[in-house]
Amino acid sequence: MAEGMRVRFAPSPTGALHVGGARTALYNWLIARQSSGSFVLRIEDTDRERSTPENVAQVLDALRWLELDWDEGPYSQAERRPRHSEGIERLVAEGHAYLDEGATRLRVPDEGATVVQDVIRGEVTFEHAAIDDFVIARSDGSPLYNLAVAVDDRDMGITHVVRGADHLSNTPRQILILRALGADPPVYAHLPLLHGPDGKKLSKRHGAASVQDLRDAGYLPEAVRNYLALLGWGYDESTEFFTTEELIERFSLERVSKSPAVFDEQKLRWMNGHYLRQLPPEELTRRLEERLGRQGLEPAVRIAQEKMQTLNDFWQLAAFLVEPQPDDTAAWEKVMTDGAPERLRRAREALASAEPFDASSIESALRAVVDELGVKPRDVYQPIRVAISGGTVSPGIFESVAVLGREETLARIDRALERAAA
Ligand code: GLU
Repeated sequence: MAEGMRVRFAPSPTGALHVGGARTALYNWLIARQSSGSFVLRIEDTDRERSTPENVAQVLDALRWLELDWDEGPYSQAERRPRHSEGIERLVAEGHAYLDEGATRLRVPDEGATVVQDVIRGEVTFEHAAIDDFVIARSDGSPLYNLAVAVDDRDMGITHVVRGADHLSNTPRQILILRALGADPPVYAHLPLLHGPDGKKLSKRHGAASVQDLRDAGYLPEAVRNYLALLGWGYDESTEFFTTEELIERFSLERVSKSPAVFDEQKLRWMNGHYLRQLPPEELTRRLEERLGRQGLEPAVRIAQEKMQTLNDFWQLAAFLVEPQPDDTAAWEKVMTDGAPERLRRAREALASAEPFDASSIESALRAVVDELGVKPRDVYQPIRVAISGGTVSPGIFESVAVLGREETLARIDRALERAAA
């Protein structure tokens, strides 16, 4: 790969940053880091109504959360209007553009074709016969999109334009403008579209569709980067896990596919679970405490970590360890069948005298109850689980009881026994 590639991410801030935009940003960032080049951030904010400061802030927040740091910018395209006007004037002065009922149109040759040498798609030919003399400035002088992009890419010395396939049809127009301005067009690479698992274009229906949604759902930025990298790119047929350093080292546009990539949130969940389990428990605790605005979660985190796939799973699995247990009537009715209260009473006796009150002596005490009663382990463990957690899913039962402590465990079991007797 060339040294010092200058790439840009050029979002139009219309709200949250979508997964497709995030992938575009990531690929550009990887190329910049790999080639010791520059990642330029340019906000395409010429639509003043949609480009509110809040919408711009959302894009920047999403990039920061993904840890995709930019080297230059954010530039505002709207503020570059004087440069666009100069470009338009020059094109008119040199005969490449002309006024037509107030608007300015670029002169497109009648014959021949503009060929896009796309790194991913190969040669894509656009016959000039199919391209009208298109408008580059409105009658009020304001530049149109393709003109602004071409002038900005030239001014910013962009060497590679990497963007979604939906922009491919703009590319011959941008190349025509650049050539008319006497500039060499950059190299282009158009990324494959994103589909949901049902083969339809990705949308909100498929679950988390924006970076903000992914953060709220409890995914880790490092897992999201890994997953996004695989949406259209692969190193070989089988490797799925890449640290960010490995991505920087191995990513290449040449290995990006043309066919649509599938965003599958279940796969991301699975991948995120892998990243979560690899975090040192202290680090996972730090992230959860910050997210939940609480302290003292480490014992609960240590026993829940193995079963979590997202940060949000922690609360689902372990809230009962740090708060009064919620009441789940369906779970209660399922578990507290005939005989369950008696088994729970026996378990309570064993727990009252287990010494020390740690997971291993709790385990021996409860196994002894199972043996004495001659029942299946879950016949004893599920009533305890429902008594202490309110539900039927929790981290390991011995560890949960140990983290909750003797006093609280016995108090919860007592309440359950009272309820069963009522
Ligand atoms: N502003 C365009 C968008 O958000 C991207 C333009 C480009 O990358 O050339 O889709």
